[in-house]
Amino acid sequence: MSTKMNAPYENPLSKGPFDNLPAQLRLWDFQPTSIFKIPVTKIEKARYPVIDLHQHGAHHGPDPVQAIDNMVKTMDAVGVERSVIFTGTGEPGKFAQISKLYAAHPGRFNLWCSFDLTGLNSPGFGPKALDALEQCRHLGAEGIGEITDKGFGIGSERSGATIVPGAHPDDARLAPLWEKAGRLGMPISIHVSDPIWVYEPMDNHNDWLPAAWTWRIPPTPGLLDQDGLIQSLERAVQNHPKTIFSACHLIQQDYNLERLGEILDRHPNLYADLSARVQEISTIPRFSGAFIQKYQDRIVYGTDFDYNEEAIRCEFRTLETLDEHFYIVYPGYNHSFWPMNGLGLPDAVLKKLYRENALRIYQRAHDNAA
Ligand SMILES: [Zn+2]
Repeated sequence: MSTKMNAPYENPLSKGPFDNLPAQLRLWDFQPTSIFKIPVTKIEKARYPVIDLHQHGAHHGPDPVQAIDNMVKTMDAVGVERSVIFTGTGEPGKFAQISKLYAAHPGRFNLWCSFDLTGLNSPGFGPKALDALEQCRHLGAEGIGEITDKGFGIGSERSGATIVPGAHPDDARLAPLWEKAGRLGMPISIHVSDPIWVYEPMDNHNDWLPAAWTWRIPPTPGLLDQDGLIQSLERAVQNHPKTIFSACHLIQQDYNLERLGEILDRHPNLYADLSARVQEISTIPRFSGAFIQKYQDRIVYGTDFDYNEEAIRCEFRTLETLDEHFYIVYPGYNHSFWPMNGLGLPDAVLKKLYRENALRIYQRAHDNAA
């Protein structure tokens, strides 16, 4: 694992007649457009109503009322029936405040809370966190998430170079919270690790260099790697069979879908969300399409980006059509210049992916509640 750039790549073809090309084109600035005269499917709305199971909402900015109204307009325009909002708080008072902002649009939002991990590293941690979770549930929290461990633990804090470690998913301190979530009928959205390319050398061989550089993870003592994080997640999921988990971003296994399948096979109480990975799987459309068909009962749709009609429609185009070689621009960040290709998923699979599996997650969580 290294974050050092290798020596500049010397392309032999860049000598001679090519000398007059611009000396340098930054990868960041490379924004190709398709030259192909091939069919383009225009998509206004998703073919079936969508529940977005991974959204951070619009309550963070200076005018949340307007921003949430705008979200609803976008949802109406593209066919998102309901959006699961990760409020980002486990503090009941704050959760109640945020809930009020979304209450103007009944039926369009489900609000999920976080854990209150105050005092995680102090003796006596536990009862207060369980109590806060129960209060959030009473205030209407329908699930928990996004709970994140990128290697330093859930609830870790960074100030400058100092990192206060949190707890990995299988940490004994978190076990009562996972268990309680199950008893309260609250599914959990959990993010572990990061895409594989952030751990690879930042050089000319990195398959997704611009994004990898943006999210690079410098080697740091105490950092748990991707395998360690997935094993920790699997132990937590296994230890709490009555708690329903939805692991974000295909558990970072978009590059290794067979492994994702094996993980899902081992844990019937585990689902995986597609959020922020539609572009990745669109680059291997036949393999990923076959995978989604095989695991059509275990994958749920989610966005994870600020609502934007063009980007959402492009994702629906990817899932629904067999269009080839098109590009997406996600709002707010530079992603990749890989062209996308449609998976052309069958109607029955789309219905599950878009909506039915999300409803099933709620149903199973409610059925398991004590
Ligand atoms: Zn997210």
